[in-house]
Amino acid sequence: MKLYDPAVIRAIKSKYGFRFSKSLGQNFLTSKEVIDGIVEGADIGPSDLIIEIGPGIGVLTVAAAEKAGKVIAVEIDSNLMVVLADTLRGYDNIQIINENVMKLDLAALIQEEMEDAPYRAVKVIGNLPYYITTSIIMMLLESRIPCESITIMMQKEVADRIKASPGGRTYGALSVAVQYYCTVETVEEVPKENFMPMPKVDSTVLRLDLREEPAVRPIDEDMFFRCVRAGFSMRRKTLLNSLTATGHSKDAIRTALETAGIDARRRAETLSLEEFAALADAFSGLQE
Ligand code: SAM
Repeated sequence: MKLYDPAVIRAIKSKYGFRFSKSLGQNFLTSKEVIDGIVEGADIGPSDLIIEIGPGIGVLTVAAAEKAGKVIAVEIDSNLMVVLADTLRGYDNIQIINENVMKLDLAALIQEEMEDAPYRAVKVIGNLPYYITTSIIMMLLESRIPCESITIMMQKEVADRIKASPGGRTYGALSVAVQYYCTVETVEEVPKENFMPMPKVDSTVLRLDLREEPAVRPIDEDMFFRCVRAGFSMRRKTLLNSLTATGHSKDAIRTALETAGIDARRRAETLSLEEFAALADAFSGLQE
């Protein structure tokens, strides 16, 4: 079954009385090239355990299962369970979990799987629902699930923010957080015409490779992220002002910035990861 064929998607809709849910971000892929691009970009092999977020009617699930050891796909919409039972029939290496991925203990799930059949690597893939993309990415990174890479489609604008370098308007807390944990690579740009229904915006597939060690090593990681959050919470303000959101006094901020060798009139959007780490270390060394 060519699940990416719009005629097949329409037939499935009418057979099961299924309706696209806008609130669940249901824009299904209609391009074989794009699907193949995700599978190739994720570099899926027979000894990989794949975790897919949001399988929809299973178009990417099937393509991944052709190459992977096993695919576990997490889908929130219970209306799709009957559809997936049909479209995934015959694949004995696919498991569907009907759950909100934000509520699932992915680390425990992966650990259980690895005990049963040790896979060489765990890789996450997905065409993410737009409404929750950044929360899913941060959940995957902060929960530190033992995975090698995350190859995901998202709104182009979010991908641009993730990839951004210091100095630009798109550089922000999301750029710093993702680049702290991962190296980032663009797999493919995907125009909006490749989805059904067609969304308003274009998409990008990024591959995030989890670093063995974070990009920088602040003494206190919580302090590092406090500085990042505070700096970007008031991104138009100078660091001397925006960093008051860390709870430190202006005198302490002035001293920390001086210790880190950072001009107090600069803004957070100009700071590299190394400078955020130096700033965090300067705060950690303060005796207030
Ligand atoms: N993978 C399919 C494709 O590419 O055609 C569907 C992608 S669609 C953009 C996003 C999918 O994620 C939908 O099937 C939607 O129901 C599901 N979804 C939305 N929120 C979710 C959540 N919190 N947990 C798991 N799945 C979710």
